[in-house]
Amino acid sequence: MHSDFKVGSQITDIPSNRNQRRLAVLLALFISALSVAALPFGTKILPSFEPFLPILISWFIFGDLLTAFILFSQFRASGVPSLLVISCTYLYIGIITALHILTFPGVFSEEGMLGANNQSAGWLWIFWHGGFPAGILIYLYVGIRYPQPLESKKDISFYTAIGLFLTFLSAFLSFEFATDGADHMPRIIDVGSYRSILDLGIGPVLGGLNLLVMALVLLRFRTRSVLHLWIAIALLALFLDTLLTVFAGTRYSLGWYLARVNSVISATVVLCSAVSEVNRLFIRLSDQHKQLLESGRKLEKANEELLRLSSLDGLTEIPNRRRLDEIISWELVFPEERQTPLSLLILDVDCFKAYNDHYGHLGGDHVLKKIARTISAEVKPYFGFAARYGGEEFAVLLSGLDVQGTFAVAERIRTAVERLEIMHAGSASGGKVTISIGGHCLAPFQGVDQDELIYLADQCLYEAKDAGRNCCIIKGWSRESGGMRSVGS
Ligand code: GH3
Ligand code: MG
Ligand code: MG
Repeated sequence: MHSDFKVGSQITDIPSNRNQRRLAVLLALFISALSVAALPFGTKILPSFEPFLPILISWFIFGDLLTAFILFSQFRASGVPSLLVISCTYLYIGIITALHILTFPGVFSEEGMLGANNQSAGWLWIFWHGGFPAGILIYLYVGIRYPQPLESKKDISFYTAIGLFLTFLSAFLSFEFATDGADHMPRIIDVGSYRSILDLGIGPVLGGLNLLVMALVLLRFRTRSVLHLWIAIALLALFLDTLLTVFAGTRYSLGWYLARVNSVISATVVLCSAVSEVNRLFIRLSDQHKQLLESGRKLEKANEELLRLSSLDGLTEIPNRRRLDEIISWELVFPEERQTPLSLLILDVDCFKAYNDHYGHLGGDHVLKKIARTISAEVKPYFGFAARYGGEEFAVLLSGLDVQGTFAVAERIRTAVERLEIMHAGSASGGKVTISIGGHCLAPFQGVDQDELIYLADQCLYEAKDAGRNCCIIKGWSRESGGMRSVGS
């Protein structure tokens, strides 16, 4: 790929790759060699295959109109004026080839349709083979003179209307000339022979025009863009078509058949390249779309992970204080909607400073992790929420339990930690790591703010510490008495 050629958003800017250039050169060499080699035998008459011409011309019309449509869509999208010219050129050629077959004697009617005389199809053939290079010439001129894309939709519609009007007018005038005007012109076809086209000098002019415009296209764009590469091949094929037609002389001769093959190539290469490029763009787009979706999913996952991590405590991997605060404030925000009791426990490791002093900080960390896991496991059956409150303190939120129920859960946690049997030489409570728990239970619909609830639970914790540690003190709402109750061990 040429590095100096920018990848743009228009079909005119798509760079050609080495394989496309190689294919184009091979095709050019092949059709040139075949056509030149056939020249000496061009006049050899082959069997006449009547459907050959209608089939081929249908192909041209289809190919030309489809190319016109694709290039016109590119013009609408980009506003590049030269794309309108080239699309109108293909439209003109499509109309002229349609008229050519309709007026061709012996195809649809003996004389040719649409009031044609026996010169009409010949003249339309000339407009076809001259119209294409002429259109490309205008395309080159407009590309140089008006390189800037049209900005507004109004301008695009306005120039579209002008382009279509001029195209249909040209086609109409060409047809008028080929039917009525031909009467005043020298005869170009004699009983199926095209020889006069050569003798009158029209053939060389047409051939020369195609070659000249091909040279100009190559001079201006070299072989750098796909579209121009194949336009050059289309012009070469049309030149060879002209060459064979005028030298083969007669219909259904070898040269005539080969000339039509060149016509097919001329009418198809640009279409094939446009379709293939549009297809490639589509594939690239869908790949990029997939990648975009994939990176979107990864981003979403990363965000979820970030959110999860930002609400977890780094050491114990249970929810942190931030998360605890969020949950408590949700629970307390609309007391009138809270139909169940809500309990907060604060759990503190007993004599932990002494543990650190004796076993080291890392040993202390290890104990905190074990205690965190134990608390989480114990509150799970009650759908409780456990978090690290800070330092060697933890918090638990329980819903639906009154003071007795809360006390029972607190006791389960306390004894579970005791049963871990973690040696603690400096402990005041039996040589093991233990915890003290203070808690408060709010009645259903009871309104209280977060600091107050924490304060109430904290007070109970102090009482538990004062009571000798390794015990639970819970106060608050009781289902039985409907009043406050303190439960301790
Ligand atoms: P008490 O029974 O009255 O609660 O005594 P205590 O020693 O546990 O209480 P205090 O609040 O005086 O000490 C808490 C200690 O917890 C202080 C600090 O060394 C330790 N600590 C706090 N956070 C961490 C931590 O993340 N890792 C470790 N290893 N120790 C911690
Ligand atoms: Mg403490
Ligand atoms: Mg402590």
